[in-house]
Amino acid sequence: MAQNFDLIVIGEGISGLTCASHATRAGLKVATIESTLFGGLVLNVNELDGYPGAESGTNLASELMQANADAGVTSIQEEVSAVRAKGAGFEVVTTMAVHGARQVVIASGARLKKLGVPGEKEFEGKGVSSCADCDAPMYQNEEVIVVGGGDSALQEALVLAKYCSKVRIAHRGDKLRAQKHLADHIAADSKISIMWKTTVEAILGGKMVEKVRLKRDGKTEEIACAGVFAYVGLEPNTAFAPEGIARDERGHLKVNAAFETSVPGIHAIGAVRAGYSGLLRDAAVEAQRVAEAIGKRLG
Ligand code: NAP
Repeated sequence: MAQNFDLIVIGEGISGLTCASHATRAGLKVATIESTLFGGLVLNVNELDGYPGAESGTNLASELMQANADAGVTSIQEEVSAVRAKGAGFEVVTTMAVHGARQVVIASGARLKKLGVPGEKEFEGKGVSSCADCDAPMYQNEEVIVVGGGDSALQEALVLAKYCSKVRIAHRGDKLRAQKHLADHIAADSKISIMWKTTVEAILGGKMVEKVRLKRDGKTEEIACAGVFAYVGLEPNTAFAPEGIARDERGHLKVNAAFETSVPGIHAIGAVRAGYSGLLRDAAVEAQRVAEAIGKRLG
């Protein structure tokens, strides 16, 4: 059913839920819209780095969701297909309805990029996984490969090392881009090793993953493993965002210092926007700032 709001926040990840919470406190009538499960990428993270007080990603998201429901935020479970100008405000079009909003915040986050190699799709759920916290216990005393050299790859390798006999990180480069404290933990864990200048070319097996074919420093080799976990970066969820919003070269929505996109009245926060640090605490801070600014403008 179509409804009208002061503010519609697209996405019920930590950014979106936090923004909606603060906008409601500022006296606005607020809705959040989410097509899948609330929580976003942190749902797959048990230990939230640099976010003290949260038991787990799921716990944090559930608490924010419940607090928003108690405060009167309307949660709409629909998929947004477009956002368009209407009068002085906007229409947020979903597959089920058209909702009105005076202002919009896009907090639709990002999804994990695929490796795009043979075997990745075929073995999904049969050794190919993107959730170490969910699946690591199934790899007790097994050897696994983690792909990537960023925070996600290292954080998930540390989770896997609690269960696996060996965790090999295959990284295409010769230096990590991850935070130092994660790199230090990796270096101190005897079960984890890094294969530099290494790319995965194919994931091979029978019913389940049995090995990967790698190119390592120019040479092809095969390594036996029971699991492959790829963390090779994120892609922003922007398919529904107006074409008129300027994007960076990787498709993130560009914003000004007030987190407003090139379309006045449409803001973008968290992993969907260009220049986001990747740190959860920063997402929460910018969500609050945007909500308070919109509250002042519309209040
Ligand atoms: P990321 O920082 O973009 O790193 C992606 C890694 O994958 C890079 O090392 C990159 O190699 C590699 N890569 C990219 N495409 C590849 C391909 N096709 N084949 C092989 N390797 C490939 O992504 P992320 O680690 O998922 O992190 C995303 C954001 O979330 C970051 O801002 C990060 O700081 C944040 N994050 C933070 C935490 C935390 O605070 N604890 C945890 C997780 C994520 P190159 O280095 O050679 O480019």
